[in-house]
Amino acid sequence: MKTAAVWFRRNLRLDDNLPLHAAHREGARVVPVFVLDDYYLDEDYSPPRLAVLADSIRELACGIERLGSRLIVRKGPAPEALARLCEETRAESVFAPADLEPHPARLQAEVEKALAASGRRLVLFDDHRLVPAGRLKNAQGKPFVVYTPYSKRWLEAEKMLPVPAPERLESPALIREDAFPSVPIDRPRGWRETGAPRNPRGGMREGEKRLREFLESSLAAYGERRDRMDLDGTSRLSPHLRFGTVGIRRLLSECRDAWREADPAGRKSIETFIKEICWREFYGDVLHAFPESVSRNFRSEFDRFPWVTGEEEERRFAAWAEGRTGYPVVDAGMRQLLEEGWMHNRARMIVASFLTKDLLVDWRRGEAFFRRQLADGDLASNVGGWQWSAGTGTDAQPFFRIFNPVLQGEKFDPDGEFVKKYVRELARWWRPGRPIHAPWTADSLPAGYPRPIVDHAVARDRALRALGQLKL
Ligand SMILES: Cc1cc2nc3c(=O)[nH]c(=O)nc-3n(C[C@H](O)[C@H](O)[C@H](O)COP(=O)(O)OP(=O)(O)OC[C@H]3O[C@@H](n4cnc5c(N)ncnc54)[C@H](O)[C@@H]3O)c2cc1C
Repeated sequence: MKTAAVWFRRNLRLDDNLPLHAAHREGARVVPVFVLDDYYLDEDYSPPRLAVLADSIRELACGIERLGSRLIVRKGPAPEALARLCEETRAESVFAPADLEPHPARLQAEVEKALAASGRRLVLFDDHRLVPAGRLKNAQGKPFVVYTPYSKRWLEAEKMLPVPAPERLESPALIREDAFPSVPIDRPRGWRETGAPRNPRGGMREGEKRLREFLESSLAAYGERRDRMDLDGTSRLSPHLRFGTVGIRRLLSECRDAWREADPAGRKSIETFIKEICWREFYGDVLHAFPESVSRNFRSEFDRFPWVTGEEEERRFAAWAEGRTGYPVVDAGMRQLLEEGWMHNRARMIVASFLTKDLLVDWRRGEAFFRRQLADGDLASNVGGWQWSAGTGTDAQPFFRIFNPVLQGEKFDPDGEFVKKYVRELARWWRPGRPIHAPWTADSLPAGYPRPIVDHAVARDRALRALGQLKL
């Protein structure tokens, strides 16, 4: 009987898991493993993400236990850890999901080399996406850089169905012995796993609960509610998609089932939701084709853009990061991020536009800050979202489209409930008739809340003048 290690990475679940399913179907004895690499502990790896990761690993370990096996947790670096584990268990191969982010992709190439040195194989699966990265090309055979034509091809592309969880896992007896080394997951050293005060919970069970709630109560109205920051109109599945505690094929298949049962309005909503999933894959494809876009303006003419620098940059950035810009909707978004490790998509667009266009701070600062605070922080979607908002990206919102934070607030938080929930000074001050999205225009100012850091109209003109200097 063959033995295969199954390396869990961004797929911390038992159902709809291609590497696990393949190893099980081959009739192999399975050695389930998670490698705690140093990069999980570096400062870019946000505490909210670590908290979700820690929940997810704990639950995965329990699930694997129920299937009769044991999740082995080893410290990295992954190439050495996996090669050693294969020696110890006599596994001939390692089955794993492919990861397209630069660091994990480098790591998997090193794992492949380390295994090959002893005649072993790394077998990679596209477990994280519906259409493998790099498969879709435009009419010139090049990677797509514009979303709409990409989405047409993506919608038509063949997508796999979910695969079931194994009912039992055969494993080498050795790994079930207490003496067999595994890092205790209850107290992994160095994990800042407390996360944000109201951090999203990770794990398969929580993912399942979120998915069910969304399918039953929000999906059919997603189209009309998804932009409203005051409503619970989106799925909040992003941390689960980030760590794969909900499988992407499973999600699509549930959406398709719901579509068949839905009325015409419901069907439109479901189609809108699926197109959002397509944005995730589009940004993944962009990262795959242009890995340098992680830190470089996709549109190189912006390399000459006069972003603010020095003390002024620090002052503006600090006000934005703390949620003290004096623009309620911007501050509510930032405080939601600090409190929940998550932010509504509309708020992400508003705060990113405000930082880059009203405050003229380089998008890379905002991107790095989000990455360190978000529980769903995902390099491809984060860089994509930031470059889109800053106007520097593929198919971006043009730089001259500058969100007016007051109008955005009035449109997408009409009663100010989102602002009142996160900006407590404004909740205490507010009375019917007071302009929640422009408190500085009221006769009495809210105690402890700042006046606007910039005048939006003046800031807008300044941004357009800066753009003019580029002579695009
Ligand atoms: C500046 C900025 C930064 C962002 N950073 C991230 C990030 O680090 N990680 C991340 O997952 N998303 C990011 N997004 C995209 C989007 O804001 C989140 O995916 C979404 O808010 C997550 O909430 P939800 O699960 O309720 O989304 P839903 O509206 O329920 O959408 C379902 C899923 O579709 C995907 N999705 C939806 N919208 C987008 C989008 N515009 N781009 C890419 N994928 C999308 C996500 O996987 C999401 O979970 C960013 C957007 C912006 C504007």
